[in-house]
Amino acid sequence: MTTTGAAPYGFWLAGREAGSEDTFDVANPWDGSLVGRVAVPSEEQVEQAVAAADAVKNAFSATPAHVRAAALDHVSRRLAERAEELALLITAENGKPLKWSRAEVGRAVSVFRWAAEEARRFNSGDSQRLDTDAGGVGRLALTRRFPYGPVLGIAPFNFPLNLVAHKVAPALAVGAPIVLKPAPATPLSALLLGELLAETEGLPEGSWSVLPVPNDRMTALVQDPRLPVISFTGSDTVGHRIQDSVPRKRVTLELGGNAAAVVLADWSSEEDLEWAATRIAAFSNYQAGQSCISVQRVIADAAVYDRLAEKVVEKVRAQVTGDPANPATDVGPLVSEAAAQRVSDWVDDAVAKGAKLLTGGPREGSSYPPTVLADLPGDAVLAGAEAFGPVLSLHRVNGAEEAFAAVNDSRFGLQAGVFTHDLQLAFRAHRALEVGGVIIGDAPSYRADQMPYGGVKDSGHGREGVKYAMEDYTYERVMVLTGL
Ligand code: NAD
Repeated sequence: MTTTGAAPYGFWLAGREAGSEDTFDVANPWDGSLVGRVAVPSEEQVEQAVAAADAVKNAFSATPAHVRAAALDHVSRRLAERAEELALLITAENGKPLKWSRAEVGRAVSVFRWAAEEARRFNSGDSQRLDTDAGGVGRLALTRRFPYGPVLGIAPFNFPLNLVAHKVAPALAVGAPIVLKPAPATPLSALLLGELLAETEGLPEGSWSVLPVPNDRMTALVQDPRLPVISFTGSDTVGHRIQDSVPRKRVTLELGGNAAAVVLADWSSEEDLEWAATRIAAFSNYQAGQSCISVQRVIADAAVYDRLAEKVVEKVRAQVTGDPANPATDVGPLVSEAAAQRVSDWVDDAVAKGAKLLTGGPREGSSYPPTVLADLPGDAVLAGAEAFGPVLSLHRVNGAEEAFAAVNDSRFGLQAGVFTHDLQLAFRAHRALEVGGVIIGDAPSYRADQMPYGGVKDSGHGREGVKYAMEDYTYERVMVLTGL
């Protein structure tokens, strides 16, 4: 891959590196320095990639599981070998603190390893006896899953490697070609992943492309009938617009959230509250709050609210802010100065409407200091929107039912954390909360890559988590045998 000097990074067209005259720059969010210049594929090159994906789809779907599994294992190993280089690249293009970038690479290693394992297991099939009716005597139904066809993967900026891995690895595992479009702010990690895919045996030409297509040229790809599946991760505004524009396609939407951490009355010992406050402070600021399951709301029973609030504020203030390349940094910049200004405007709006600022602000360039608000009024923008910044609001409730209703009082539903020791309350939370995942005893921000992951309501539909994405990319086709 071309990465030296001022020469632009190439993109990956049907598994081969390609370039063009047209380029755009990727800037480091921390200091504005140039991280890389990226070639933009022309319309003709995009067409070549889609045509190649379409041409190879049947052959790729028919490749033996062991070939696909070996390819995925190879990518996993190579990611591990180049982990530090990738982590530094993520930090440079995204502004993510180095320790979190290293963790992200580790997760991508595991996503490809899981995909290799699932490729070996997937599609063993099922059978149904049909002689339960007279008309079915002598018949047997067998099912197997087949890909719908090539996948268009559209990825966000906040996990530029791992959320790309969550689209690419399951597609390759089921033998579905993928055309991946990384986020314009952070395409470099995906392009480096392309280098590893290109050296991998067993992935036929056309089975994958990485194309940094500008947003204003995406309509053609989204509408293209040769890409029957769209796997989108990003904002609800863009995701819903895509879904509405192609109602007949299979679209999975991994969208935003305003995740809540619930602390119930029984979670009350000193040790309990220390743990809850530590986790809440870490995961409301992790990646400067730019995670879809960042803790945005703390909903605490009145019995523990004051003690918890004091600890949360203390631990939020203790977060180490600054240069993301410093391994000690907890909280780096947001992705851009505009993003930090948006957060600043929303905090100002909340305070103007009566919220109490317990700690935080003001903006410093592209950084916004970790912030805690109390008494957030319902008409503040932050009461309904996804903050996507290092901002937390504290809410006092009485009892579990009120807490669960407060969690559900949101147009989003991605994950929720519930701090309780009470098994019955844990099951009640699981039943009552309108979210894709309930994390008992921890912040809502826990995610393991093999878990089903996704939302309800405006947080989207469909599931990632390797096996679940493989199911989303495929459909069950039945074969009935007659005359047995
Ligand atoms: P975004 O919606 O701005 O962009 C996401 C992707 O869509 C990018 O690749 C972008 O270039 C592309 N895009 C933009 N306009 C497009 C168009 N008209 N047609 C096709 N593609 C287009 O989101 P972002 O700012 O990159 O990411 C942040 C959002 O992603 C947050 O809302 C966050 O919660 C969400 N997110 C969700 C999950 C999840 O799994 N649920 C995970 C991470 C991030």
